[in-house]
Amino acid sequence: MVARVTLEIALRKEFDYAIPPELAARIDVGTRVKVPFGPRQVNGVVTEVLEESTHTNLRSIVRIIGAQSLVTPQVLKLARWIADYYCCAPEIALKSVLPDAVRKEDARFKERLFVRLSPVRAEMPKLTKRQQDILHVIEEWRELPLQRLLILTGATPATIRKLEDKALISIAPEVDERDPYAKEEILPTQSMTLNAEQALALEKIKAAINQRAPGILPGSPNWKQTPTLLDSKEARPDAGGTFLLHGVTGSGKTEVYLQAIAHTLEQGKGAIVLVPEISLTPQTVERFKARFSSGPLRTLVAVLHSHLSAGERHDEWHKIRQGRARIAIGARSAIFAPVDPLGLIIVDEEHEHSYKQEESPRYHARDVAVVRGQMERAVVVLGSATPSMESFYNTKRGKYELLELTVRVDDQKMPVVRVVDMRSEGRKQKGVPIFSTQLKEAITQRLEKSEQTILFLNRRGYSTSLLCPQCGYVAECPNCSVSLTFHRRAAKLLCHICGHSAPAPSVCPEPKCRSAAIRYSGLGTEKVEDTLAKLFPQARITRMDSDTLKKKDDYRRILGDFRLGKIDILVGTQMIAKGLHFPNVTLVGIIYADLSLHLPDFRAGERTFQLLTQVAGRAGRGDVEGEVFVQAFTPFHPAIQYARRHDFIGFYDQEIEFREQLKYPPVGRIALLTLRGRNEDKVRLSAEHVRTELEKFLAQPRQGGKGTGLGDLVIAGPAPAPLARAETFYRYQLMLRTPAMTKLSRAIAAMQETLALPDDVMLAVDIDPVDLA
Ligand SMILES: [Zn+2]
Ligand SMILES: [Zn+2]
Repeated sequence: MVARVTLEIALRKEFDYAIPPELAARIDVGTRVKVPFGPRQVNGVVTEVLEESTHTNLRSIVRIIGAQSLVTPQVLKLARWIADYYCCAPEIALKSVLPDAVRKEDARFKERLFVRLSPVRAEMPKLTKRQQDILHVIEEWRELPLQRLLILTGATPATIRKLEDKALISIAPEVDERDPYAKEEILPTQSMTLNAEQALALEKIKAAINQRAPGILPGSPNWKQTPTLLDSKEARPDAGGTFLLHGVTGSGKTEVYLQAIAHTLEQGKGAIVLVPEISLTPQTVERFKARFSSGPLRTLVAVLHSHLSAGERHDEWHKIRQGRARIAIGARSAIFAPVDPLGLIIVDEEHEHSYKQEESPRYHARDVAVVRGQMERAVVVLGSATPSMESFYNTKRGKYELLELTVRVDDQKMPVVRVVDMRSEGRKQKGVPIFSTQLKEAITQRLEKSEQTILFLNRRGYSTSLLCPQCGYVAECPNCSVSLTFHRRAAKLLCHICGHSAPAPSVCPEPKCRSAAIRYSGLGTEKVEDTLAKLFPQARITRMDSDTLKKKDDYRRILGDFRLGKIDILVGTQMIAKGLHFPNVTLVGIIYADLSLHLPDFRAGERTFQLLTQVAGRAGRGDVEGEVFVQAFTPFHPAIQYARRHDFIGFYDQEIEFREQLKYPPVGRIALLTLRGRNEDKVRLSAEHVRTELEKFLAQPRQGGKGTGLGDLVIAGPAPAPLARAETFYRYQLMLRTPAMTKLSRAIAAMQETLALPDDVMLAVDIDPVDLA
């Protein structure tokens, strides 16, 4: 027998090895093995078992690593799809599906010595008073770690060993599972009554789950034990399996998730829940743990995210692999959790950009979730108050089914959103204003009533675009309709999609305006905090952004203080826009909505709409109605106006027209090729070379005389990438637009095979990029 093996070192190739007879019974797809490679031995994963190989003189597998194969055939298949679609080497895709803490050869469970009571004996040996006391303690616990017993009794190990000598107790090493949530006290919760919309959404999800074959039923012998691996089935496009749950903020999406998971468990299958890393707070995890901590559906909930220690991650992962935890909750990479059989995948806040991995493999966890759902016949629920254009477009085309929750639970009202025109404020105040008169008054009122305020500033847009604070003029590319990037030093405006370049004006080009303030440089959260402290010296103000959050616990601590009312005003970046509940927050202020609106990205409008809606959703979560102030120099912009009216559909309809015109996603698909290096000339020439090669490759007729099927491909650039910050690297990019991404991915991979670039220039391929700014 022969095993085909993917090696953990980057080679973009698989190798055949002979399986020694003594290992034959234990080697299967997914088994990790040590194999000889040149003079060394390296780790790899078996991807196929074959009768014979076309190669001769095969070397043999040295040994098997670990007792259990870690990659299930299903996840292995998913990794191969990722390598193919996202243009990366299979070994890189394979690495990303297993946490480091699990993949490393030395990763193992932690063991401790446990003391356990022996079965009762007829004759009790004679014991000293001291020994009797210790025995009583053990009797109370039945079993406990030796270390703990020593602390409880103050005894020495020698004394306890004497009890072992008398065969009253046993002392043996045992796996001591690390539980990152051991300190949290979790109280079981019951299902809540659903309103009509929630009930309808749940019914449809349940019906889709029922259409699929049952897995391992609760109470059956295999329940909570390692399920046998299913044969990997062919992925089949499966209409009706993917839902988009569009629910306004506060509409009770989580309760729908919880009851859908309960139904999945009843069907004998498990679930994966993806949430953005930033939302993975103890409160979120607790809600899921609490619901399944008791009752007939009782199961462990394993948590996977980057803030766990390596040991904790190892143990949490194995709880899933062994089938003891049937629910996995985590950030992006939890989509690879070895839940088997898998019945349901939930992607909460599906519009979040953090689901996209920024380094290779550059996969999008939401899209991988949909593919995994199809491969394993699992139902997929994408949830959001502000769905991505992509997902909503897919409901329009019948690929996903739309479920809507239009009212807040308990009939709370949506907050009132007031848009403040900062252009007129600019004429009243000297310089460029930070706080409008209206927002200042609103904050004063809240301070008087001891209610809380959140102020929000998206600093990412800081000084990258050219905006006139007097009239709201924004410099845009005539070809691509994205904001031009302002290069202050060269006094130039640049489009980073097509390369269009123009001198930066020194006064506003609007004939009626001609203001010189057009080159002002924006502001950051720090400036807002300082100004705020001067305006409201009596207020307790805390700033929360990546600069102030230094320690692991800072985020939790600040939010805890805010919850307890120790902070009057919280100032922060997008990290405070996420699904946090603060009943006493009745005012939310967005300082400059323009900052995200004019990022040099065709998704700037969409992101701003999402941010405004999410941030506004933080207000009025308690009994008091909430109020939101949006300050903007371009208050007429549709993203702001539709967000003000909580009108997602209205926003979608006008935005899709713009995307249609320029074939931006979701209408077309894009791939971004970025070249990076220290020598600008070399990088630019390499980018031009890539463009030429790509054109040559696409012009080649393929076998049978047919073309590549990429006739509609549009290549823009090369153009210098935006935010070439203080980095010492120069970056140039090419944007490719196509209606057929799978074909394009393969064409790019094929082109890379023969592409020759200088050693110090690197090429990164990003399929379906989410962040262009
Ligand atoms: Zn102007
Ligand atoms: Zn352009």
